[in-house]
Amino acid sequence: MEHVSVEKIIEFVSVDRLSESDLALTREVNAHLCDCADCRRRVRAAQTVYDALLAECKTREAAKKRLSRELDETLERKI
Ligand SMILES: [Zn+2]
Repeated sequence: MEHVSVEKIIEFVSVDRLSESDLALTREVNAHLCDCADCRRRVRAAQTVYDALLAECKTREAAKKRLSRELDETLERKI
């Protein structure tokens, strides 16, 4: 089974508007999360970090960039 990449997790937790591509990503990730406890745990961890960063950063874009850096340190990369 192919796990959700860190890049996709970042997109997933920071998704803002329901544009068509975001909707496709959300569906794809949710379908995988349904079957994979491992990725559920990683998404939950990423969501917690993102929410904290959002409170500190001025923009969502800044929070997203920092999330990417933080996840490099806290989550192992699995593709
Ligand atoms: Zn997975």
